[in-house]
Amino acid sequence: MTAEAYARLARDYGTPLYVYDLDRVLSARQDLFDALPEQAVLYYAVKANPHPELASALREGNGRTCRAEISSTGELSAALAAGFTGSDCLYTGPGKTAEELSTAMRAGVHTFSAESVGDLRRLGRVALAHDVRAECMLRLNGTPGRASTSIRMTGVPSQFGFDVETLPEVMDSVLGVPGATVVGAHCFPLSNSADEDALISEFEHTAGLMAHLGRELGLPLRRVDIGGGFAAPYAAAGVRPVYKNVREALEHAFDRHLPGWRTGETEVAFESGRYLVADSGVLLTSVTNVKTTGDLTFAVMDAGINALGGMSGLGRLLPSPVTPTLVHPRPSAGVGGEPRPVTIAGPLCTPGDILAKNVVLPQLVEGDVLAVPNIGAYGPTASLLLFLGRPAPREVVLRDGEVLSVSRLDTNRTYA
Ligand SMILES: *Cc1c(COP(=O)(O)O)cnc(C)c1O
Repeated sequence: MTAEAYARLARDYGTPLYVYDLDRVLSARQDLFDALPEQAVLYYAVKANPHPELASALREGNGRTCRAEISSTGELSAALAAGFTGSDCLYTGPGKTAEELSTAMRAGVHTFSAESVGDLRRLGRVALAHDVRAECMLRLNGTPGRASTSIRMTGVPSQFGFDVETLPEVMDSVLGVPGATVVGAHCFPLSNSADEDALISEFEHTAGLMAHLGRELGLPLRRVDIGGGFAAPYAAAGVRPVYKNVREALEHAFDRHLPGWRTGETEVAFESGRYLVADSGVLLTSVTNVKTTGDLTFAVMDAGINALGGMSGLGRLLPSPVTPTLVHPRPSAGVGGEPRPVTIAGPLCTPGDILAKNVVLPQLVEGDVLAVPNIGAYGPTASLLLFLGRPAPREVVLRDGEVLSVSRLDTNRTYA
């Protein structure tokens, strides 16, 4: 996308404006499939961006296409709206209720990640009530591999998964739950690992752990989900990694640990959210006011943590290193001056609404448009959309340079 094209979109549709390019979604999907063995299944983690056209792009095509990883009835609806079938979906999450499981099973979902004995029993009960099968992968909380970066989700006490240490004690009851067929295991040990060696060693560790549990405890291994952790920049400049060695390393590890994987006796799956969609998205936001106080200059934007909260709900408060760039041609042509440090604030009445501190930009004036890159994942739906009552940002989807759709999330109260 050229700066001129961004400026035109900002003019035509207003700001704040999310712009997604489906061509980039498809390139990311291609790169990730190229990094995985030919037999591997890939689930798109819908939470990264449930926009129906993005999810739909990941499902479409004649070659290798994604399935959907969901963990709520809202995400189920998003997946179905994107054209996935119930049987394309893997339903995960530590707090699944009987009601939502019932909804999911009625929609044809039959693959689940089971997080505990109670979860498994509930899955079995609901499946029996609907006279359907529930294929369950046990989510494992095991001892960690050596990866140290990123959000770690196993190996420490958490609400997720079966503790590997105590699995032997519950294995008999796990395998005997009426209505719930244990078909394999699921791990999601880490997120956002740009370090390829760390990622590989984590995958090797996971495959080894699953094989060990198969041997020692008779855990079935017809379907295994090895997890993900594929990285992408977030609201900052940069490019997503292209993993050159993962595929071969996985083939070795699977040959060693999961010998039936090449022929489909063991289906191996992976999950990804951010890698697939992050670099498809840009947020365009306008300067509404510039204020200088002492040595500091603040540019107040029309988008703040209400539209770009990302990660704030995940305990990673902004400012992360958000790196916006100035979109040219500037609506306010003619002004300029030496680049200077500026703090980028949002419009909310809370001092926490800061997107970036001391970024060096040409001197900003009201009406200038900034572009925040790499924000196709964990954008609007990961933000504090309702806080302070501003409308959700518009979202434009492009394909082959043409506008495919323009939409906006709606958040109205309905009385029960
Ligand atoms: C969030 C999540 C993902 C996606 O994580 P990314 O870092 O966006 O790839 C995949 N699987 C599970 C179980 C998740 O909770």
